[in-house]
Amino acid sequence: MDFAEELQQKLIDWGATFTGCSNVENALPENLKPLKYALTVGVRLSDYIIDQITDKPTYTYFHHYRAVNTLIDQLTLRGMLLIQEKGYYAVAVPASQTVNDVKESYSAIFPHKTAATMAGLGWIGRNGLFVSPEYGPRVRLGTILTNMELPVNNNIVEAGCGECRICVDSCPTMALTGNCWEQGCDRSRIVDAKACSDYMNSKFKHIGRGSVCGICIRVCPYGIRK
Ligand code: SF4
Ligand code: SF4
Repeated sequence: MDFAEELQQKLIDWGATFTGCSNVENALPENLKPLKYALTVGVRLSDYIIDQITDKPTYTYFHHYRAVNTLIDQLTLRGMLLIQEKGYYAVAVPASQTVNDVKESYSAIFPHKTAATMAGLGWIGRNGLFVSPEYGPRVRLGTILTNMELPVNNNIVEAGCGECRICVDSCPTMALTGNCWEQGCDRSRIVDAKACSDYMNSKFKHIGRGSVCGICIRVCPYGIRK
C-alpha cells in the first residue's frame, strides 16, 4: 500500500465514510494553483436526524451539522499534517466557511463539491448540493489540497436527477432554478444562493443561526432508506 492509499485508509478508520482523489488544477484560484491535487473526504449524516426535518430544520440537525463539520475539519487537518510530514505542501479547506474576498458571494476559498465531482464521487443535484449515488445529499464534504501526487481518476459522474424536481418544488423560497448540473457550470445556474441564505436568516435564525435549512436534503429520493 503506498502512502496515498494508507492515508485514505486512515481517514476512513478515523470516521470518513468515503474518500476520493482528483486533479483540480483548472478549477483553483491563483493563490492555490500549486496545490493541484485534491483529496476529498465525505462523512455521512444521520438518516434519523435528517428524516425529522419538516418545513424547518431542527435544533438537533443544527448541532449535528456542526459536529460533522468539526469531524471533517479534524480529518482534513490530520491528513494535511501527515502530508506535510512527507515534505509536501497541503491545505485543509475549512469544512464550512464562506469568505468575502472571492468573486462570488456565499462562496468558500475552494468548493468541496468541485473536487468531489471531479473525483467521480457523485454529482450536483437540482438542489445545488453534492449528491452521492449511495447517500444522496445526506453527506458533508471536506478537501485537502496538496502538491503531493494523488491517484486521480477524474471520472465525472453524470447528474442522476433525471426528470425529478422534488427539491425544486419543495424549496419554500424558490431559490432553485430547476436547471440540471453539468461539470463546470456556474452555481447561479442552479441555485440563487442569496435567496437561500436570506430565507435561512429570516426564518431559522433562532434554530440554526441562519446557516441551515435542510429541506432540500431531506426530500431527495437519493439517500432515503427504502
Ligand atoms: S436550503 Fe432551504 S431555502 Fe435553501 S435551497 Fe434548500 S430548501 Fe431552499
Ligand atoms: S430531489 Fe430530485 S432533482 Fe433534487 S437533487 Fe434529489 S434527485 Fe435531484
